[in-house]
Amino acid sequence: MAKTYSIAIDGPAGAGKSTIAKRLAGELGFRYVDTGAIYRTVAYFLDLLGISPKDADGVERYIDELTIGIGYDEEGIQHMIMNGMDVTGEIRTQDISQKASLVSAHKVVREVLLDMQREVARQYDVIMDGRDIGTVVLPQADVKIFLTADPQVRARRRYDELIAKGQKADLSTILKEVEQRDYQDTHRAVAPLKQAKDAVKVDTTCLDIDAVVAAIRQIVKEKIGK
Ligand code: C5P
Repeated sequence: MAKTYSIAIDGPAGAGKSTIAKRLAGELGFRYVDTGAIYRTVAYFLDLLGISPKDADGVERYIDELTIGIGYDEEGIQHMIMNGMDVTGEIRTQDISQKASLVSAHKVVREVLLDMQREVARQYDVIMDGRDIGTVVLPQADVKIFLTADPQVRARRRYDELIAKGQKADLSTILKEVEQRDYQDTHRAVAPLKQAKDAVKVDTTCLDIDAVVAAIRQIVKEKIGK
């Protein structure tokens, strides 16, 4: 099989990972893999069953009953399929964000999802975003980016996004949730969020999307000549 290229983009919630990764994937002709959506699908599945994301026994008992599919539509948008059902539109709530963060701390969940993520990268040129892509999932990734920004700025972006969608939002609640998720994701025992030693850190606090894309395009060009 021909070599496939992989670009890992890790960082905390709201740093701009998915927006940037989607743009870059379009420009490079790579497949964009949003790994957070996979954890969200697990959280949504357990939630439907009434299993608390903190209930280690319950998570372990039911995880095998979940089959996750990742599909792409004509526009290249990733769809999450939970036991044959498209749940792409259901997994984007604040509630599922928090539950995904708790669910993702279980070793059994991370083990189940690891092969699935690696398999996609084996088959396609990918830009994969998440929390542990450069450190655990694809330690040999050709390019590793650690995308970050101040919590206040990340919370503000989430707030603006929700308001633009016509949803209700409270900035101080969002900031608390962002900080709580940061804490959980960086303090868990298995595959915590941290910058890989060989990752390039890009702080997006004061940068707009075009500037971030341009900076990362430059890094990609230097590393893989594309
Ligand atoms: O990126 P997103 O906000 O959709 O991720 C939801 C949650 O899934 C994160 O807060 C994190 O706990 C978990 N996650 C993870 N590892 C990844 C991607 C997401 O633990 N590679």
